[in-house]
Amino acid sequence: MPPMISRQTFLRGAVGALATSALFGPLRAGADPGSGWAGLASSIGGRVLLPDGGSFAAGKQIFNSLYNGSNPAAVVTVTSQADVEKAVAFAAANKLKIAARGGGHSYIGASAAAGAMVIDLRGLTGGVNFDSATGNVTMPAGTELYAVHQVLAGAGRAVPTGSCPTVGVGGLTLGGGMGADSRHAGLTCDALKSATVVLPSGQTVTASADDHPDLFWALRGGGGGNFGVTTSMTFATFPTADSDVVRVDFTPSSAARVLTGWQTWLAAADRNTWGLVDMSVGGPQANCHVLATCPAGSGPGVADAIKSAVGVQSTGVEHKTLSHMDLVMYLAGGSSTSSPRGFVAGSDVIGTVNSAAAQAIVAALGKWPPASGRASVIVDTLSGAVGDIDPAGSAFPWRRQSAVAQWYVETPNSAQAAAANNWLSAAHQAVQQFSVGAYVNYLEPNIAPSRYFGSNLSRLTEIRQRYDPGRLMYSGLNF
Ligand SMILES: Cc1cc2nc3c(=O)[nH]c(=O)nc-3n(C[C@H](O)[C@H](O)[C@H](O)COP(=O)(O)OP(=O)(O)OC[C@H]3O[C@@H](n4cnc5c(N)ncnc54)[C@H](O)[C@@H]3O)c2cc1C
Repeated sequence: MPPMISRQTFLRGAVGALATSALFGPLRAGADPGSGWAGLASSIGGRVLLPDGGSFAAGKQIFNSLYNGSNPAAVVTVTSQADVEKAVAFAAANKLKIAARGGGHSYIGASAAAGAMVIDLRGLTGGVNFDSATGNVTMPAGTELYAVHQVLAGAGRAVPTGSCPTVGVGGLTLGGGMGADSRHAGLTCDALKSATVVLPSGQTVTASADDHPDLFWALRGGGGGNFGVTTSMTFATFPTADSDVVRVDFTPSSAARVLTGWQTWLAAADRNTWGLVDMSVGGPQANCHVLATCPAGSGPGVADAIKSAVGVQSTGVEHKTLSHMDLVMYLAGGSSTSSPRGFVAGSDVIGTVNSAAAQAIVAALGKWPPASGRASVIVDTLSGAVGDIDPAGSAFPWRRQSAVAQWYVETPNSAQAAAANNWLSAAHQAVQQFSVGAYVNYLEPNIAPSRYFGSNLSRLTEIRQRYDPGRLMYSGLNF
C-alpha cells in the first residue's frame, strides 16, 4: 500500500533506466520462434504482440514506469483457459521463460521481463461470480481489485484485499495480500478456497485443500510467477458493514512514540479495528499519522484510544463513516483507476515493534536526503487473523511478527531512482537488527529468497521443483 498522498502528487516516470535485463541478465534461453509466432497467433482467441508491431509498447506497459524500457520477447493476450494452455505449450517448446501478467503492479517489472513471453491475463473471460449458496466468489486471476469489490458490494460481501484498485487479484493473492480487513479476515491468500493453474507441463490442475494440496500451500504466499499460470481463483467472502475511517496526525518528531503507541493500541483493539502508521519526509511537508478503520460509530473512541496510547499531543483528528464501497474508494485514494508511475520500494518484516525498533525505523526514514523529494515508510500490522494460521500452514511465513515496514519513493527520473536505491539499502541496514525478512509482494531485485519465505523456503523449493522443474516460469526470484 504505497502512501495515498502519492496518488495525488504522482509524477509520471519516463526513464526506463532499470530494464529488467539490467537487473537479472538476459532471460531468453531458446531459439527465436520466428514465424512460429504466427502459428500461435492463429490458434488463440487473443493476440500475439511482437516488438516490431505497433501495439507492443502499450501491450508491455506495466504500472512501474521505471520498466518502460524492458523488452519481452512477446506479449500474448489471452481470452480463455485454452489460450493459456497453448501459450504455455508454445513457450515450453521454444524454451522461452513465461512472465504472467495480471494487474502489472510488480515492483521489479517481473510481468514485463526482458526476453520472456508475457502472458497477459486481463482478457480472460468469465467475470466475477458470487455464489450465494456457498458464499464463495470465483473470478479470472487477472481481475483488478476494484472490479472484485464492485461485484461483491452488490451482495453486501467482500474478500480481504489490498488497497490499490488496479492491482490484480492473482498477483496479490499469490504473494499474500495485506489490507484493512487483514485483522478480522486475514490475508487475501487466507480466503483462497481453490485455484485453477496451467502448469509448465501443459497440464491444468485445480489446487485446493483436497486436490494438489502441496500446490495449494505454495500458492498461498509463495509469490507470483513461480509454479504455473493461475487462471481462476475462488475465495470465501465475508459480510460487509459501514465503517469509520480515522486519521490521527502527530508531529513527525514524535514518530517513534507513534509507532510504539500504535502497537499498544492495536494489542488491546478489537479485531474489527485495523490501523497502520504512515510517515514521510522531504517534499512540501513531513508527515506522521495513524490511519485506522473500525465499525461505524466507534471512530471517536478509536481516535481517543490511539491518542492515549501514543501519549503525545496530536496535531489533527479526522473521522468519517463510509459504506464498504466508499471505504474501498477512500483507501484507493479516491479513484477506481491508477496511472503508471516510477517508484522504488521494498520492505522489512519487523519481529516486534518495540521502542528500539521504532527508533530504528524512524532513523531509517531519516536517511533519505530531503532535498531529493519525498520518501515514505508505511508500517502495516500483521496482528489479528493473520496470526490464526500457523507459519508453516501456508507459504506466507510471517504469522508471528508485528509488522511490515514498506519503504517507498516515487522516482520521476533516473537520478532520483539511484538516490532511492541507495536509501533503500541504507534503510534495510538501519533496521537490520529488528528485521526478520521481507514481504514478497514488495519484491526487490537481488534479495535472497530466504528473506521472503523464511523457514518455508525449503518446502517451497521442493514444490517448485515438482511443478516447474525446468524453471519455465519467471518471477524474478531464483529458488
Ligand atoms: C500502487 C500499489 C499498491 C499496492 N497495494 C498493496 C496492498 O495494499 N497490499 C498488498 O499486499 N500489496 C500491495 N501491493 C503489492 C501487490 O500486491 C504486488 O505488487 C502484486 O504482486 C501485484 O499483482 P499484479 O497482478 O497487479 O501484478 P503483476 O505485475 O501482473 O504480477 C506480479 C507477479 O505475480 C505474477 N502473477 C500475476 N498474476 C499471476 C497469475 N495469475 N499466475 C501466476 N503468476 C502471476 C507475475 O508474473 C509477477 O511475477 C501494491 C502494489 C502497488 C504498485
